[in-house]
Amino acid sequence: MSETTPADRLPIELRTEALEQLLTERGLVDPSVMDKFIQTYETSVGPMNGAKVIAKAWTDPDYRERLLADGTAAIAELGFKGPQGEHIVVVENTPQRHNVIVCTLCSCYPWPVLGLPPSWYKDPAYRARVVREPRVVLAEMGLELPADTEIVVRDSSSEVRWLVLPEQPAGTEDLSEQELAGLVTRDAMVGVAKVKAP
Ligand code: FE
Repeated sequence: MSETTPADRLPIELRTEALEQLLTERGLVDPSVMDKFIQTYETSVGPMNGAKVIAKAWTDPDYRERLLADGTAAIAELGFKGPQGEHIVVVENTPQRHNVIVCTLCSCYPWPVLGLPPSWYKDPAYRARVVREPRVVLAEMGLELPADTEIVVRDSSSEVRWLVLPEQPAGTEDLSEQELAGLVTRDAMVGVAKVKAP
């Protein structure tokens, strides 16, 4: 195969399509299985699953304890499991300590609770900079943390997928579990935002 420069490259969609076609032709993937897989991650697996986990943890202290002790098992109690969810570790954000997630190597991410990662999560700039200057990167993303809040950057890998348990916003104590789940965002569970009261 001849060398190509980045300028010669086709858009990612075309290259992906070519790869899919090649794999299909060689009998390495079944397109119907692939379609099902894509549909699953587009419609039924996503941050709404993680939001249910967080809302339950906010309203059920025993569940919260189980979630922090063994994330994978507690998340599976709600029926969420599968690829990239085998070793989920849940870390709690508090006013003293703020956790933010990255995968410095590639794009490891807890699929069963957050779905597929957003493009900024896979961006080399985010992956490199959030480790070096997390406070600056978070501020750029709209999250200004007090100077006395410690920031802990959690590096995901094939061994560990992190999930942030965000702080429950003040004034939401009387909301139902379902209402609370509606407030929890993907970004809050990655640690690049806080959950806001309605
Ligand atoms: Fe990775």
